[in-house]
Amino acid sequence: MNIVLLGAPGAGKGTQAALLEEKYGLVHISTGDIFRANIKGGTPIGKVAKSYIDAGKLVPDEVTCDIVKDRLTRDDVKSGFMLDGFPRNLFQAEELDKFARIDVCVNISVDFSLIMDRICGRRVCSCGASYHISSLGGRTTCEKCGKPLYQRADDNPETVGARLETYKTQTAPLIDYYKAQGKLLTVECGNATPAEVFAMICGKLDGLNK
Ligand code: AMP
Repeated sequence: MNIVLLGAPGAGKGTQAALLEEKYGLVHISTGDIFRANIKGGTPIGKVAKSYIDAGKLVPDEVTCDIVKDRLTRDDVKSGFMLDGFPRNLFQAEELDKFARIDVCVNISVDFSLIMDRICGRRVCSCGASYHISSLGGRTTCEKCGKPLYQRADDNPETVGARLETYKTQTAPLIDYYKAQGKLLTVECGNATPAEVFAMICGKLDGLNK
C-alpha cells in the first residue's frame, strides 16, 4: 500500500507516520526531513532549500519532485511507502501520479486554532520523535533514545503563520484532488490524542482491506 499523508503543519503527520511505519512496515519518506538533512550536510540542495524553509514557503517544485522521484527508485519502497509532506501543491500531485501509484490519501484534519501552540511548543529529536513542552516537565532529552531535544528553526510564530498560509492556498486543494480520485480518507482529530488519531487511521485503513 502506498500512502500520501496530508495535513496542515502541526497536524501530526510525522507522529502518525512513525506509528504507521511500525505497524504496517511502510517506508516513511518525509521531504521536510530530507531537506533538513541536506541543510545540515551543507549540500547544494540544502543551500537552495534553506531560504524557502526559513520563509515558510515551498521549495521549488523541480527540486522537490526530483528528490521524491529519485527516492522512489530504491528497492525498499517496493512493499509500500508513505509520503509525509509531499505532494504540497497540485503540480506536485500531478507529477507524482506520473511516477508512482498512490492507493490512499490519509487527510489528518485539525482545528487551525490549535496549530500555533502545537508547533511553537514542539521539541524534536534527530531520531524522529516529537514532543510538546507541556508534556516534558522540563526534560531536555528524548525519551526513546536519550539524545538532546531541539526546536526546529522554522517552528517560530512568524514562519508558522507563513506555513499555514502556504498550506491554505497551495496544499488544501489536494483534498479535493484525492477525493475526485476516490482515494481520500479523512480523520477529524478534534482533541484526540496521537494514539486515538492512530486508532482512527488504522480503523479506516483496515476497513479498506475487507
Ligand atoms: P515539514 O517538515 O513537512 O513541515 O517541511 C518543512 C519545510 O520544508 C516546509 O515548510 C517547506 O518549506 C519545505 N518542504 C517540505 N516538503 C515540501 C514539498 N513537498 N514541497 C516544497 N517544499 C517542501
